[in-house]
Amino acid sequence: MKTFDITYRYSSDDAAIRSTPPDSHAALLRLEQGNNSFATLLDHDEEGSVVQQIIPVDLRDLGLPADSTVPKQRPFAAVLGCSDARVPVELIFNEGPNDLFVVRVAGNGLGIEVLGSLKYAVENLGGSLKLIVVLGHSGCGALTTAVDVFLNPREYLPLATKRSLRSILDGALVVVQTSERKLVAAFGPAVVQRPGYRKALIETSIVTNAALAAYSIQEELRTNAYTGIEAAYGVYLLESRAIWAPRSGDIDGFGLAAAPRDLAAFVDLGDAIVQSRRIESLLNAKQ
Ligand SMILES: [Zn+2]
Repeated sequence: MKTFDITYRYSSDDAAIRSTPPDSHAALLRLEQGNNSFATLLDHDEEGSVVQQIIPVDLRDLGLPADSTVPKQRPFAAVLGCSDARVPVELIFNEGPNDLFVVRVAGNGLGIEVLGSLKYAVENLGGSLKLIVVLGHSGCGALTTAVDVFLNPREYLPLATKRSLRSILDGALVVVQTSERKLVAAFGPAVVQRPGYRKALIETSIVTNAALAAYSIQEELRTNAYTGIEAAYGVYLLESRAIWAPRSGDIDGFGLAAAPRDLAAFVDLGDAIVQSRRIESLLNAKQ
């Protein structure tokens, strides 16, 4: 039997509490290191062993001791993630209460309420907030549905009358269309016949969707002259618990990646995604 303990250790000892990252780079590194600790924790495969991971939490973030003041909100990163129950944001980043400002919505799309929530965080938590992350995940149901509707438009009919579902789907369909064009440009029109095509299109769409949202957030930050806060994207892989973010010049692309700087960089990113090792292996898989 194997046992894994993930423990939140509450303490008011300043020496035991992690300090808030001073800038967006440090915030990104802390999230990457946290995810790495979580992803590799379960790699310990010694039978009969108990593997323990401790997440230090400031007791004062719970308003303790009782005579102290109400805790002040001070997340160092905002994360836009999917509602999927298999992707609990704090847990996969090894973080605790008051560390992350989390917005979760099916398909992690940038709807009006989502953007409003992130704007609130930027405008009100600027003292501690250094980074906004858009986090997709492998096998996302929202993008999978969009791909299936794209490949077989008749599947749209039962969904067309459900306005709330349609709004999630319509945004995702634009991403699927772009992803299809990139795959065809990179591998030729016959790519659509490959057995792994559907899966590759789903995963290309998932990461493109996350990168596009991060790019849009960054544009919004720049337009409103918010400095010191950066946007990044990544995809949580359910199969390995690691984060994947293909980018130009890195065909493996593990960890989080900074949002593309401009439109040209976003176009280059599309090429890098379809040329990444993971998409290639999905395309080559016999299914
Ligand atoms: Zn999802």
